[in-house]
Amino acid sequence: MKTWENYIRKVEPYVPGEQPKDTGVIKLNTNENPYPVSPEVIAAVKQFDTDRLRLYPDPEASVLVDAIAERYNLSSDQVFVGVGSDDVISMCFMTFFNSDLPVFFPDISYSFYEVWADVYRVKYEKKPVDSQFRINPSDYKGKNGGIIFPNPNAPTAIYMELDSVEDIIKSNQDSVVIVDEAYIDFGGQSAVKLIEKYDNLLVVQTYSKSRSMAGMRIGYAMGNERLIKALNDVKFSVNSYTMNATSLAYGAASMKDVDYFNETVNKIISTRTRSEERLRELGFTFPESKANFIFASHRSVPASVIFEELKKRKIYVRYFAKPRIDNYLRITVGTDEQMDKLFEALAEITGDR
Ligand code: PMP
Repeated sequence: MKTWENYIRKVEPYVPGEQPKDTGVIKLNTNENPYPVSPEVIAAVKQFDTDRLRLYPDPEASVLVDAIAERYNLSSDQVFVGVGSDDVISMCFMTFFNSDLPVFFPDISYSFYEVWADVYRVKYEKKPVDSQFRINPSDYKGKNGGIIFPNPNAPTAIYMELDSVEDIIKSNQDSVVIVDEAYIDFGGQSAVKLIEKYDNLLVVQTYSKSRSMAGMRIGYAMGNERLIKALNDVKFSVNSYTMNATSLAYGAASMKDVDYFNETVNKIISTRTRSEERLRELGFTFPESKANFIFASHRSVPASVIFEELKKRKIYVRYFAKPRIDNYLRITVGTDEQMDKLFEALAEITGDR
């Protein structure tokens, strides 16, 4: 081993869901939105002045920040933007989690939290969810260096009522509490309205799911001005130009189209309801979903077998070979047509016609 190899930062990276290269795939494995971007975004793409590409983008990302602030009735100094919520949350770990006390997050949750904690050398303690995968708010009451959890949780799709979320925030006013609301638009109530009440709350959302823009990479955090300033100070110490000129323009256009947003979100919710009924008939059980995915287990056929069989039929879902959840599949809610093809394949695989 070369000496320099001793000084490499050793990390076990997060493994994102597969992006298959072949065509004709039904892709239900990374919780993307099956519907196109808003027509306002398409118009913005057509109007985009390519001369903008010659110049550095606005380091303050003002058009995007302002559009988000307006949509959520906040002031612009209460909004921070980043390259997907992954970038935003990564910045949050760097900015807020510097205590000697452990950061708390659920044991069954977004597996990236552990990776950021490791890469930034943050101490952490995973709080086990209960036998039905529910987060217990009373687990989040000991001394800690910060708290983060998704609501709805991933990969379980379980939503925690806002009262319980508030209970966690209220009981931890010496720490920053981050509520990762990647999936909140699919039926949950956002904690954004609690920002006025709690200066230790940061709400993180994304364009990747409810706004059909995973490929654009836009995420944002909303919170007290002092939290947002701290995030911007760190951002400007790492990379001033995180948001490129196109994401600023297209992101702002998307945020303004509330009608289209409501229409597509409602379509996904109704397909989810229908999918839950059909999955139940096929012998699956799952917690009630308030996200754009369903976390399902079959009564007799192992999840790993179903996963492989679906893949052979060019249907991709997500499978995690991890303790407690290795008999579950995380199935993204697609269009009705995509889901019908999935059910046909599942009926064949499970022998339930
Ligand atoms: N939080 C949760 C809970 C997620 O499932 C995801 C999607 N992988 C993200 C954050 C990150 O999403 P993005 O970076 O696309 O905004």
